[in-house]
Amino acid sequence: MTDLFDLEHIWHPYTSMLNPLPTFKVKRAYGATIELEDGRTLVDGMSSWWCAIHGYNHPELNQSITDQLQNMAHIMFGGFTHQPAIELGKLLLKITPPSLDKIFYADSGSVAVEVALKMAVQYWAALGKTTKTNFITTRSGYHGDTWNAMSVCDPVTGMHQIFGTSLPNRIFVSAPQSRFDGEWNPQDIQQLKQQIEQHHQTIAALIIEPIVQGAGGMRFYHPEYLRQAKALCEQYNVLLIFDEIATGFGRTGKMFAWEHAQVEPDIMCIGKGLTGGYMTLSATLTTKDVAETISRGEAGVFMHGPTFMANPLACAVALKSTQLLVGQDWQSNIQRIETILTQQLTALAQLDYVVDVRVLGAIGVVELTSNVDMKTLQQQFVERGIWVRPFGKLVYVMPPYVISDDELQYLLEQLIAVVQNMQGVSSNVLA
Ligand SMILES: *Cc1c(COP(=O)(O)O)cnc(C)c1O
Repeated sequence: MTDLFDLEHIWHPYTSMLNPLPTFKVKRAYGATIELEDGRTLVDGMSSWWCAIHGYNHPELNQSITDQLQNMAHIMFGGFTHQPAIELGKLLLKITPPSLDKIFYADSGSVAVEVALKMAVQYWAALGKTTKTNFITTRSGYHGDTWNAMSVCDPVTGMHQIFGTSLPNRIFVSAPQSRFDGEWNPQDIQQLKQQIEQHHQTIAALIIEPIVQGAGGMRFYHPEYLRQAKALCEQYNVLLIFDEIATGFGRTGKMFAWEHAQVEPDIMCIGKGLTGGYMTLSATLTTKDVAETISRGEAGVFMHGPTFMANPLACAVALKSTQLLVGQDWQSNIQRIETILTQQLTALAQLDYVVDVRVLGAIGVVELTSNVDMKTLQQQFVERGIWVRPFGKLVYVMPPYVISDDELQYLLEQLIAVVQNMQGVSSNVLA
């Protein structure tokens, strides 16, 4: 089933070329269904890593690309502009925090994060604060795999030791511990407070994923953390960057996760769900103040400009995807998914090797006592007709919003069966 050429020559995410994990060859995908080359079909629990919010092979999304293709696939963004970039921009400004006013399009989430970090440094440089070049962040974060994005990822799961001194040194504080649905513990903010007090003269920005820490641990934390973090940023002249690349476009039950706390950032990164799962695209949005300050600086410009900036095909399909989302009762739909996730997954909390079960919006997480054997588990999920890709101690789902009740029930029944059956092998796999 694993393709031999692929196995020998093609690198997959985070894998060894000596001992690669098996891959499953996909023939096509539609709605919440993934069809393998061998004819088996899988119910999708991953939305291709948060992206495919409307499912696969969506007729209107397909059409938007076909239509745009008749005009142009690409045109340089230096000196040119086009309708898809403009229309998308108008819509984005309607749904993102009101204080954000300027949009920089980039080509992936990691690049959006690089852009955000560069904006922060250029902002302070323009104000003559040339020592403010470092960043503060929480542990268990994930912001992408490019150099500076990586430098603000959790140092342990982000494997900072591999890159040694080649990686810039950031200031890390412990991840917020107060749960999203629990009591706020005022202790939670103390480390951030103390580190900002001590280092603010060298800190350009605090970068954080609001409410949900994604690939760094799938943790949901208390909105009060963001309110107090914002107050500290204001008090000590530190910009606030929200990385909403995973949390955006309805996934947490709000259009963007900042709304849970009503705290607006100075800079915000979006991606993933923005694309509708079609073509890579991201954006970094910022305030008038940040953008104009940068532009008044010595350079007079913001120093970034990817070749594929605002690619028209990607903008056209992102526009259609976002229109589809805002044009429907997405809140009720996410609520529907949240309700089923909660009903089904909660039972797993009784297992002695399950530490925690948590659900927020269309995200369901089962945290185990120790790391899972990804290869075995992945195989079992596929044999049972579902696509779930665990990592570390986490088995989690974030299905496409178009998933039907029946499909979602099936996905969760099979997931639960696999997790329950781990008991028999728990001494091997979970020891
Ligand atoms: C996925 C992700 C990124 C990186 O996006 P890419 O498109 O993979 O470069 C950055 N931040 C968060 C929160 C993400 O989930």
